[in-house]
Amino acid sequence: MLIDSSPAQQHILFCAVKKLLTCKPQIAASLERLSIFTLRDLLFYRPSSYRVKTIQPNLTELYCNQLIQTTVTITGIYLSKNHRLPTKIMARNHTGTILLVFFNKISPFILSKLQIGSQPTITGVAEFFDDTWQIRHPELNLRPESLLPIEPVYSLTFGMVNQQLYALILNGLKLVAGWLQCAPVDQYHNYLSALLVDLKILHLCAGSILPEQVSAAWGQAIKNLAQKELLANQALLMQARRYKYQRAGRSFSAGAAAQQQILTNLNFQLTDGQKKVIAEIECDQQSPRQMMRLLQGDVGSGKTLVALLTMISVALNNTQSTLMVPTDLLANQHYQFFVRALAGSQIKLALLTGKTPARHRKMINAALENGDIQLLIGTHALFQQQVNFKDLGYIVIDEQHKFGVQQRLSLINKASRPDVLVMTATPIPRSLTLAMFGDMAASQLTGKPKDRQSIITTAISLDKIATVIAALNKKIQALEKIYWVCPLIDQNQLPAAALDPAVTLADVQARYNCLAQIYPGKVGMIHGKMLVSQKDQQMQKFKLGQIQILVATTVIEVGIDVPDATLIVIENIEQFGLAQAHQLRGRVGRSSLLSHCIMLYNFRRLSPAAKQRLAIMKATNDGFYIAEQDLLLRGGGEIVGTKQSGEPEFFFANLAEDLALLIKARELAESCSDSKFIDFQIRLFAQNSAETIKSG
Ligand code: ADP
Ligand code: MG
Repeated sequence: MLIDSSPAQQHILFCAVKKLLTCKPQIAASLERLSIFTLRDLLFYRPSSYRVKTIQPNLTELYCNQLIQTTVTITGIYLSKNHRLPTKIMARNHTGTILLVFFNKISPFILSKLQIGSQPTITGVAEFFDDTWQIRHPELNLRPESLLPIEPVYSLTFGMVNQQLYALILNGLKLVAGWLQCAPVDQYHNYLSALLVDLKILHLCAGSILPEQVSAAWGQAIKNLAQKELLANQALLMQARRYKYQRAGRSFSAGAAAQQQILTNLNFQLTDGQKKVIAEIECDQQSPRQMMRLLQGDVGSGKTLVALLTMISVALNNTQSTLMVPTDLLANQHYQFFVRALAGSQIKLALLTGKTPARHRKMINAALENGDIQLLIGTHALFQQQVNFKDLGYIVIDEQHKFGVQQRLSLINKASRPDVLVMTATPIPRSLTLAMFGDMAASQLTGKPKDRQSIITTAISLDKIATVIAALNKKIQALEKIYWVCPLIDQNQLPAAALDPAVTLADVQARYNCLAQIYPGKVGMIHGKMLVSQKDQQMQKFKLGQIQILVATTVIEVGIDVPDATLIVIENIEQFGLAQAHQLRGRVGRSSLLSHCIMLYNFRRLSPAAKQRLAIMKATNDGFYIAEQDLLLRGGGEIVGTKQSGEPEFFFANLAEDLALLIKARELAESCSDSKFIDFQIRLFAQNSAETIKSG
């Protein structure tokens, strides 16, 4: 963050809580554990729920589990000598009596407040026991704010109780209100006044809210805050986008003849979807500005070919391009595909992975530096320091969610103003696309190559696994291939306690042993702990048909392409998220042959959410639809399975619910021009203010 000495940047909201609100070191430490550093962090710390209390209740009209708060007079104390019996304290208010019960030792401080004749205010849950109303471990209310009828409940850490955090938040709100009174009435003032109104409702100190209105008022305040937050998010992305589009880039012309030669070599005809996205990319390539484009395509829609055909144009313009992929397996596969596609052409192609021998790597590095290599396929090995290009003009990142933002940047930094194409594994929900890639142009690749049939998906209980195993024979006879996916490599991956045979998860090792007995010589195995060379060997054997069943972990999830694999069995499907299950299923259905996906579930582990996932998988093959359903089922939170590196985190916005707000925010952001005021909003909602304090 730039250091800016304008008043907005030094705003009270960005000051350290420790300094603003004198708090004891123990409290300050607790705040830091909650990632609360600035006043902004404190006020944005969202209550997890709230509780409604009945104030000064009639003690003869209580109901069970009623949360009550009342001022009482202490009338009797029965201290227990035996530590197994509770201490009981008799109390009464103007309507009747109630018993306060303390198990364990009662602290001297609390005891001092509960002497006969004293008049504390207490809060707790009323219970009826032994013919008497009682409260176990009542809270003692010593602060005025704890006397409110509705109280927010925060998630806490040790060293701090709810009342203490709440008191700090209320003081913080007062500070902002005080600041607003003195500040000139300008756009900041108006913005922060509105913000303060919503923050007060969020922390339930707006005064006049009735208990029955809390839920609605709370929901509305959070929506208002989310709107501001999303506007800040979109404004930031818009700034990035404008910055990029102002930057001059390179201009490449399309190499139609070379592209046609590739299609002839492969005997492929482009799908309409491929034609459309290639045209979009070429339009960017020809323009003299830098390209930043996201390509979303369903699994099996043919993204690799799109990458290759657009890379070839760059090579013909005498510039280098590179395709970065997340695994060695995938790098090898793409390399073989490129070699096949480029047969007879003059283009020089190379493969660089962590496993490339040192001598070979040196040669590649030299050839990259003098421009002899035009196309490079590689893994994380690409961002090593020794890798330098003569003139890198185009970068394609496959399966982008497997790379962190930093990793993408370190590759992009090896080039000067390159065109960049980022490809997703499967579609991602629209809201996430906007919130995360709003700074890029987006292309959607829909449709599959011709003659593809949809994959027939069934769910079968693990009880019937023997039938499924027997049925593999049909595919084997037809010389087709089968993936069998298990969640574990071996049982050592599980803690001993989880080894209940009824609910344990399948592992590759055991399943391999079992299948190899039934189909000797036909079964192979692949998982992440194997050496790269072993993995390659298994993959190669599977491709060549020397083995027909490949028992695998989710290492095959990413991009693997064996067109004549026509059955995938996913064991313990209940373990997998929707996006991941769809991604795995996409390993089949890659040729004109009819493919099947069998989802084996353990009904003892099958939650209602898992059942819904199975139903969605059975109902559709459409990854765009599945992505939206996935987000709805998860209700925001982390989007497991396609967990995106660099996925934005929000204080108030929820990507599962707030698509409409996000679209509105985007429109607004498009119409705002950059200003200090916009920068202020961006900074207000930026996540890591700890960093800003340290650096600013
Ligand atoms: P994904 O989009 O999942 O990365 P791939 O690029 O691996 O998909 O392509 C899926 C399969 O379809 C591959 O076997 C690929 O060679 C093949 N393919 C891609 N485009 C076409 C096409 N236009 N015609 C025929 N087959 C194609
Ligand atoms: Mg792919």
